[in-house]
Amino acid sequence: MEHASAAERLTAVRAAIAASARLAQRSPEDVTLIAVSKTQNPEAILLLLEAGHRDFGENRVQEAAEKWPPLKAAYPDVRLHLVGQLQSNKADQAVDLFDAIHSVDRPSLVTALAAAAERAGREVQSFVQLNLAEEPQKGGAAVSDLPALIDTMRARGLEPAGLMCLPPADLEPAPWFALLAELARRHRLPGLSMGMSGDYETAVTVGATHVRVGTALFGERGG
Ligand SMILES: *Cc1c(COP(=O)(O)O)cnc(C)c1O
Repeated sequence: MEHASAAERLTAVRAAIAASARLAQRSPEDVTLIAVSKTQNPEAILLLLEAGHRDFGENRVQEAAEKWPPLKAAYPDVRLHLVGQLQSNKADQAVDLFDAIHSVDRPSLVTALAAAAERAGREVQSFVQLNLAEEPQKGGAAVSDLPALIDTMRARGLEPAGLMCLPPADLEPAPWFALLAELARRHRLPGLSMGMSGDYETAVTVGATHVRVGTALFGERGG
């Protein structure tokens, strides 16, 4: 797909999601494709907007604040997802910009987000990010901290939408996806944010409700 247009890549990724969903006897409509547009310029993003796509992901609040206000003005039904780490002092800005946050991983951030959502009078879909392999360089809560974190979220009025993970890069992803799905089931959480360009089809067969795809839609990131 090297020379495919953005619209062609979008069609191909959607078709792959639909095929994986059907294989698992799931409905393709139950999977939200998030186009991860970090480092992409507005022109590249516009090609997907013009092709009808509306869910986008960014990993930095600052970058999203610079890029998205004009795009959102032109396409008000866009839904923005924060897929990267969030500092508590950027909670207000994040709640203003984003419809969903996929990286809730500690009580102090829950407190900041709940307060920001109340100030803004907005609801923000909140996924708990888990660091399943406890990799030190990655964000995410330890599995052992999940029950307390869910309790804290509910006490603050921030109902958890689901779980999110980024499996270790060098290992087979399916067992990690299956573990995330099992933890979501155990805690009765409906959402599963898992799967990126290299493994979103696997993630969909294991139950992903949100896949976060960058490279397969936009091509390699320039950095
Ligand atoms: C960049 C990023 C993605 C998308 O990665 P690709 O491999 O380009 O699809 C997904 N999730 C998170 C958290 C990311 O930072």
